[in-house]
Amino acid sequence: MTRFREAVIDLDAIAANIRHLSAVIGDPQILAVVKANAYGHGAVPVARMAVAAGASWLGVADVEEGLELRRAGITAPILAWLHGLDTDFAAAITADIDLGLSSVAQLSRVADAAMELGQSAAVQLKLETGLSRNGAAPGEWDELFTRAAALERAGRIRVRGIMSHLSNTSPADDAEAIARFDEGLAAARAAGLTPDLVHLAATAAALRVPESRYSMVRLGIGIYGLSPFEDADSGDLGLIPAMTVRGQIAAVRRVAAGAGVSYDYTWRAQEDSTLALVPLGYADGIPRQASGRGEVQIGARRYPIVGRIAMDQFVVNLGHDTAAVGDEVVLFGDPVAGVPSANDWADAALTVNYEIVTRIGHRVTRSYCGGAPAEADAQP
Ligand SMILES: *Cc1c(COP(=O)(O)O)cnc(C)c1O
Repeated sequence: MTRFREAVIDLDAIAANIRHLSAVIGDPQILAVVKANAYGHGAVPVARMAVAAGASWLGVADVEEGLELRRAGITAPILAWLHGLDTDFAAAITADIDLGLSSVAQLSRVADAAMELGQSAAVQLKLETGLSRNGAAPGEWDELFTRAAALERAGRIRVRGIMSHLSNTSPADDAEAIARFDEGLAAARAAGLTPDLVHLAATAAALRVPESRYSMVRLGIGIYGLSPFEDADSGDLGLIPAMTVRGQIAAVRRVAAGAGVSYDYTWRAQEDSTLALVPLGYADGIPRQASGRGEVQIGARRYPIVGRIAMDQFVVNLGHDTAAVGDEVVLFGDPVAGVPSANDWADAALTVNYEIVTRIGHRVTRSYCGGAPAEADAQP
């Protein structure tokens, strides 16, 4: 039975997506991006399934996210690439987490931590190639590569990889970033570095820019079965959306024409209508921007959200139809099953599908289907 509020994660869909993407991409290794609780899907079960399906690396933003995977007993290679001044590099080195580094200052801190531990740290140098985020800028490359090569000779670090990230703005912008990345790679090699891993592409470029694949691709949204493109949906890409968000109707009420609904009465019934109350709100990651715009599936039909989405609940208009308390309401899932998609919600909320799934909150129970029996119904 459908729970009060739940996100059902199909681990078999995640495995199928990884296998499909791997077949499309060919030789390069796959790093499965499981940051942000695996885009809301549950970091530990997704990471386990990703590795079982052929991902050779796991990627996270923060070291703490990598440590969570290690605490769960995951032994696959992990890379973490976004750090603060209080990031515990010693804990990362001890836990055998590779560190994506963007500056000489970070490199020095990691080398110091490695020396204190009497251990060598595995690092991957992140280059700025156009995104204007956290890679090392071309002007810093010489110093970064020279320092890294010296630390490597001294046995303090191993430069295992060189990486960057694309903006996906246009083919021309990506080509420019690739050319800059190639310059950075050449400079790193000239400085004596011998990275085993070279990686630039996330899902979008991995699919559409073959020359960006190098030795590994970092796949996030695609493994969750969602499309990074505006001109293609999951089905067009051969992907299966892994997350279904659904709940139970919490109340059903018949109202007279003119009745106002939810805060500020932004909607009033035009005629006598049946309303259903859905117990998910913006505390659960349901975007308030979708008030009066989104749709849900109840039984065989779509019904519109009316009035404001509140913190814990929203109202849908069933019109002349009826429903019972406890009936299942599906917010989004695989459109092939006839339900709204994360893309539909993204359109309604003026955002992207990434944000729709990633925002789904803690109060929404995750349950798992597919995968190893041990994963079934595990809590993340
Ligand atoms: C989040 C992220 C990815 C994954 O991007 P998708 O578009 O979800 O495939 C890859 N690389 C880096 C550096 C990221 O931050």
